[in-house]
Amino acid sequence: MAPITDKDIERCYRLGVAFANGEKTFREATDEAASGGMNKASARDYVRNVKYMRDGFAFKRTISAKAARHYLSNIPSDFGDLGMQAALKALEGHIEYYEKLQSVVLHQQRSILSEFRARPVADGSLRGLTKLMQEFDEDVRRAAESLQAIRTARLAAAERKPTKIVVTLNVFIRNPDVVAEALFRAKGTCEYCKRPAPFARLRDGTPYLEVHHKLPLAEGGEDSVENALALCPNCHREAHFGLLKDRFKE
Ligand SMILES: [Zn+2]
Ligand SMILES: [Zn+2]
Repeated sequence: MAPITDKDIERCYRLGVAFANGEKTFREATDEAASGGMNKASARDYVRNVKYMRDGFAFKRTISAKAARHYLSNIPSDFGDLGMQAALKALEGHIEYYEKLQSVVLHQQRSILSEFRARPVADGSLRGLTKLMQEFDEDVRRAAESLQAIRTARLAAAERKPTKIVVTLNVFIRNPDVVAEALFRAKGTCEYCKRPAPFARLRDGTPYLEVHHKLPLAEGGEDSVENALALCPNCHREAHFGLLKDRFKE
């Protein structure tokens, strides 16, 4: 079978978009896709997968890593944010399906998936990063649900050096007086559980507490003493990740 060229990938993507948008029938699109000499069956898969990705459907017939990258690079401009979310979901579903079926690990496709998942963070917002972290939590949950043998196989073959990305971030410059005042008010005792701070700071021997915003700054909360709570590390984690999350906002 003739190798699939970059030109083939580009043509299939473009025709796949036309098919997904109802501008061409599946037949028209695939005939044209194969006109450059591409194998017909592959042309059908490559065209159809554009629509499947837009719709978030875990496609079964695989495409090359190169094609996955080309498709994901272009989907945001053709189908917007929602299309992109759907495409990432479709690719993930495909990877899981294919790996199970063939007992292989699709490393390249997995790394492309992580890379494109990380991209929304480049929008320069704290929300973007928070979203990335939430997605990571989701990934952990799914990893925990995998059969252990499959997880072990993935681990054995996994890249040990983590992918590094550059994140542009808008951060809030907090008022140090608010932190100092909240700590002064707490007098070394957690303002939620009322237990003493668990240890003293090595730096200056003061009780270790963390200052938390009841209504987060990212949600429009004030950087004020009234919106601040001095918490022990346990209560602080619970305020962010536990049952107390909403209670603290009151
Ligand atoms: Zn506490
Ligand atoms: Zn906090």
